Amino acid sequence: MLNINPNPSDRKMKMYIVILGVILLIAGIGGAAYYGFVPRTRVYGAVGVAVVGIIVAALGAMMKTASVGATTTGQFACAKCGAKFGSEAALNQHTKDKHGM
Ligand SMILES: [Zn+2]
Repeated sequence: MLNINPNPSDRKMKMYIVILGVILLIAGIGGAAYYGFVPRTRVYGAVGVAVVGIIVAALGAMMKTASVGATTTGQFACAKCGAKFGSEAALNQHTKDKHGM
């Protein structure tokens, strides 16, 4: 029995986006803390980086969630006959109808 992830590279890429966002967030917070000691406009730049980090991480997390549904059209393959489906529900229905499971 092979248990292959339907789209491992896709999931890995989204994980990298979340990690990138977290790195930007940490860098932004670190920069804000550093520049915070100096009352200059640079602190806004650092806060901006942190905000971008939050947005990137949130987008990455959202993409990851969305990939389970909408963005993986044709990614759900039947383990019995190899037929592909746009959604897990459709695959489950097929499995029930064709293979009685
Ligand atoms: Zn099938």
